[in-house]
Amino acid sequence: MKAAVVRAFGEPLVIEERPDPEPGPGQVRIRVEASGLCHTDIHAAHGDWPVKPRPPFVPGHEGVGLVEKLGDGVTHLRVGQRVAVPWLGRACGRCEHCLSGWETLCEQQINTGYGCDGGYAEKMLAWADFAQPVPAGVTPLDAAPLTCAGVTTYKALKVAGVRPAQLVAVSGVGGLGHLAVQYAKIAGATVAAIDVTDEKLELARELGADIVIDARAQDVGAELKKHGGAHAAIALAVNPAAFEAVNSGLRRGGKLVMVALPAHGTIQVPIFDTVLNGTSVIGSIVGTRQDLDEVFRLHAAGRTRVIRETRTLDSVNESIDAVLRGEIKARIVFDLGVDG
Ligand code: NAD
Ligand code: ZN
Ligand code: ZN
Repeated sequence: MKAAVVRAFGEPLVIEERPDPEPGPGQVRIRVEASGLCHTDIHAAHGDWPVKPRPPFVPGHEGVGLVEKLGDGVTHLRVGQRVAVPWLGRACGRCEHCLSGWETLCEQQINTGYGCDGGYAEKMLAWADFAQPVPAGVTPLDAAPLTCAGVTTYKALKVAGVRPAQLVAVSGVGGLGHLAVQYAKIAGATVAAIDVTDEKLELARELGADIVIDARAQDVGAELKKHGGAHAAIALAVNPAAFEAVNSGLRRGGKLVMVALPAHGTIQVPIFDTVLNGTSVIGSIVGTRQDLDEVFRLHAAGRTRVIRETRTLDSVNESIDAVLRGEIKARIVFDLGVDG
């Protein structure tokens, strides 16, 4: 099988021919049909974060495909069933976090495309309990971006506790942001979308944003304040200055939800303003299996649109460069369709 492999941080990925992986107990092997390119995969390939993957590894945590082989003990999935393999490759199921509905905080978790090989391949392994069935009505090419970009932003809005009539700022209308805008609208909020390209701002409008702010030309905090300030700001731009800008546009009691993970990212949080205004800064990491199920059901019901460009896995390095140049409308999905 073909796989795109990170051999060294910061080097181009290498397309390799590898033997089909064998599922161990509790695992399944999947014939990958579609695999999304999340900005996290670029951070992984560059070794951007304090906790690093160990090359050689196959990135990708938006892999969707058909179960091809069951490992010992797998009884609830069947061969031919379509599943998605998210970032949360497995969690222990026994710790305080797992038992309280916060499996995404499990300290024993293994992350797909980071702590084990991921979806940039024709075949991949998954732990059956964390391979999410994809309902009929969600195509593999749409399911891929929902598997990370979708579930992550859906969860970020839950964490922010967004309610109807609130103002939500979405900073960065990329793979994650284009879905965040839609989930915020579904929650009943007024949405202010912020980006630095005309195409992204236009896309945000098409997807229902009520206000668009061009961070190149406008003062983001001041613009948000003109509308009373944001109840929640979802920080999705890979740029610490963008976090500070939306934080300054919160209304009293507002929440900054940190989602993007820029390399060496730190921001200045003014103590005086935070205390006097009673604002919060919260981190939000992906979402649970339950959250992903809800994301798939919303899409199957026609409530969301996935904006994507399909490419072949062979184009992986050019695709990464295009994302870094900001040229992609929302998400790149590698089409590994079973017929090739
Ligand atoms: P992306 O590259 O598709 O989107 C980033 C967007 O930010 C682009 O539209 C870009 O034009 C815009 N942008 C750049 N500078 C900006 C600025 N100054 N102000 C406003 N917008 C600006 O990336 P993505 O795949 O959506 O991922 C975004 C980030 O989220 C990455 O750092 C990724 O690692 C992280 N991420 C976090 C989680 C999590 O669970 N917390 C999950 C997935 C991804
Ligand atoms: Zn656990
Ligand atoms: Zn991701």
